[in-house]
Formats: sequence, structure tokens, C-alpha cells
Amino acid sequence: MKAVTIIKKNKLLFLVALAYAVIFIVSPEKATKSVGNSVYYLIEMLQVLPVIFLLTVVIEALVPKELIMRGFGEKSGFKGNLLALLLGSISAGPVYAAFPISKSLLGKGASISNIVIILSSWAVIKVPMLANEAKFLGVNFMAIRWMLTVIAIFIMAYIMGSFVKKKDLPTEASQQGVLEIKEEYCVGCGLCEKLLPDYYEMKDNKAVVKMMPEGKEVAQIVRESVDKCPSKAIAFNMEGNAS
Ligand code: SF4
Repeated sequence: MKAVTIIKKNKLLFLVALAYAVIFIVSPEKATKSVGNSVYYLIEMLQVLPVIFLLTVVIEALVPKELIMRGFGEKSGFKGNLLALLLGSISAGPVYAAFPISKSLLGKGASISNIVIILSSWAVIKVPMLANEAKFLGVNFMAIRWMLTVIAIFIMAYIMGSFVKKKDLPTEASQQGVLEIKEEYCVGCGLCEKLLPDYYEMKDNKAVVKMMPEGKEVAQIVRESVDKCPSKAIAFNMEGNAS
């Protein structure tokens, strides 16, 4: 039973291991090559990710929310788009490194459109990439591709910004047992604090989480406070289903 639970919780990992096992049986040569590639990318990730995590910690702890909102927020306008384009373009490292940074920026108030611009420019128009492109394919090729790509990125960003909202994105509360308050939805009525003063408190007219709930019984009580919140600002995942 325990093995089934472990497999259920790590479905993707289990499927990858299964795929490797099958390839080893069918074609040991290709399997060895594939393991070699995986090790290569694993080493690359281990080299890049610590720096990226350090950067996200710096953003979380030292960069004021107002600064991010001013630079990359909903009201930053075209200037914010250009700043996002610059940030993505001068970045270094593989694009998966951009995701934790994007998440931190989103959490601090960056808009969806600007995150799309950062991710896209990071992926396809980084300065080192452009330099190599010009060297191998010529300056004209690089410049025209850059122009068309930037136009496409801006169109994509505006479309994404219109259709995808922050509330559609997974939050920390998608992890089991994590209690979270979506600040932008909280109307400051104070009901959660009145109901469960051990778990919520009011700060600057907004509710914040004071303590994470532990145990099934407590989780049930917290769940009730989630349901009673008038603006549905509280997110809590008791059994793997975020609310
Ligand atoms: S009950 Fe909801 S809206 Fe009211 S303070 Fe708590 S989180 Fe905010």
C-alpha cells in the first residue's frame, strides 16, 4: 500500500524510470546515450540553479514590491514592456532558469504580459545568442529575425495578458497543507482573524497567515474559514485540491 502511495505521489518520476527500463531492455546502447544526456543536463542544472535561487531570494527579500510594480506591474505600460524586454535580453543561462525568477516577479506584482516578454526574450533573443547568430548567419539575418521576433513577442504578451489572469496560475497553496491569502482579493473584513486568531492576523488592513495549520482536525477548521471568506481570498489545499 505504501509503495502505491509513493508511486502515486511521484507519477512523473516513476514513468521516466519505467521509460528508461524499457529502453534498456529494447536498446541498451541508446539507453546508455540517453542516461549520458540526462547526466549532462543534470550537471548543467546543478551549476545554474543555485545562482538562480540566490537571485530569487534577493528579489524576495531585498527588492521592494513597489519597485517591481512600478517597473513591471499592470500600470507600467509600454515602458514596462521595454524594461521586460531588456531584462530578458541581457539574461544568461538556459530558459528554465527564468521560471523561478518569473514566479518571484509575479509574486511581487509584475504583470502577466511582462512575464511573457521576459520569458520569451530570455528564450530566443538573448544578447549572447544574437552575437552568435550574427557571426554564423550574418548581421542582416540576425537583425530581421530580432525585429520580427520582438513584434511576435509583444503580440503574444498582449494576448496572454488578456486571456490569462493571475488567479488562474497555481499558487503555493497547490502544495498540500499550505495556507495562503491572495492579498489582492482580501477586502480586509477581518472575519478570518475573528474566526481563527491563531492562524490569521490583520496587517495594514489585510489578512496574513500567522501559522500554518497542521493535522487533519485543524485543517478541517481552517477549511471552514476558507469557505466563509467573503471575497474568496484564502487558498488552502487540504488533500491535494487547492481551493
Ligand atoms: S475573511 Fe477574507 S476578506 Fe476578510 S480579512 Fe480574511 S482574508 Fe480578507
